[in-house]
Amino acid sequence: MPTIKNNISSIQIRLQQAASEAGRTPNAVLLLAVSKTRNSAQISEALESGLTSFGENYLQEAIEKIDQLSATNLDWHFIGPLQSNKTRLAAEYFSWVHSVDRLKIAQRLSAQRPTTMAPLNLCLQVNIDNEPTKSGFSPEQALVAASEIANLPNINLRGLMAIPRSRRSVIEQRIPFARLRALKDQINSRLDNSLKLDTLSMGMSGDMDAAILEGATIVRVGTDIFGPRGQ
Ligand SMILES: *Cc1c(COP(=O)(O)O)cnc(C)c1O
Repeated sequence: MPTIKNNISSIQIRLQQAASEAGRTPNAVLLLAVSKTRNSAQISEALESGLTSFGENYLQEAIEKIDQLSATNLDWHFIGPLQSNKTRLAAEYFSWVHSVDRLKIAQRLSAQRPTTMAPLNLCLQVNIDNEPTKSGFSPEQALVAASEIANLPNINLRGLMAIPRSRRSVIEQRIPFARLRALKDQINSRLDNSLKLDTLSMGMSGDMDAAILEGATIVRVGTDIFGPRGQ
C-alpha cells in the first residue's frame, strides 16, 4: 500500500527531475497538495512529510478543515469555482485564490479582504484551450482584465492558472502551458514594474512534469499524493 508519505517522496523526486531537466531550481516550484475530499488526518500526514500548502475546491468543506487544523501554520489556497455570493468566505479564510474567472469576483475579493490580513494573492483562471464547458477568462479577456485587477487594493495579482484538456504525451501537454507562459509575459509587458506577475499555477498529477518544463511555479497535485478520490 503506498502511503501518503511515500507518494510525497516520489512526487518530490519527479518535481526535482523535471526542474533539473528545465535548468530550474526545484525551490522555484511550489508543490500545492490538493486536499479536496481528504480529511484532516490525511492532511496532517502530508504536513508530517513537510508539505505546508494545501488546495481546496469547496468552501464549506475547506472551512471545516481549516478550523480543525487552525493550530498548525498552513497556507490555504482556494482553487475551485467561486460564486460571487461566496467570495467573503474565500477572502477571510484563504491566502490565495487561483480561480478568479471574472472581474466582479476580483472586485469583491478586494473589497472583502480584511485589512488586518496580508493582501490576498490572486491568479486569473484562463480557459487556455477555449473549451465551452470550462470557466475562465479567454486569453484576450485576461490581458485586459489583468491591468484593472492588478490595481485593486488588498489583493496581489500574482499570475495565471489553467487546467488544459488532457493530452497523451508530454510534448503535447507542453503546448497549452507554453501558451499560458507567453500570455503571462505579454501581460507583464503592459504592467508597471511593481505589479508584474510572478506565478504560473499549472500542472496536476497527470501533467506536472510538462508544466514544470514550461515554467510552472505552482503545481497542484491531488491524486498522486493522496491516492484516487472517491473510494
Ligand atoms: C482536483 C484538482 C487538482 C488536482 O488534480 P489531480 O489530478 O488529483 O492531481 C488540481 N487543480 C484543480 C483546479 C483541481 O480541481
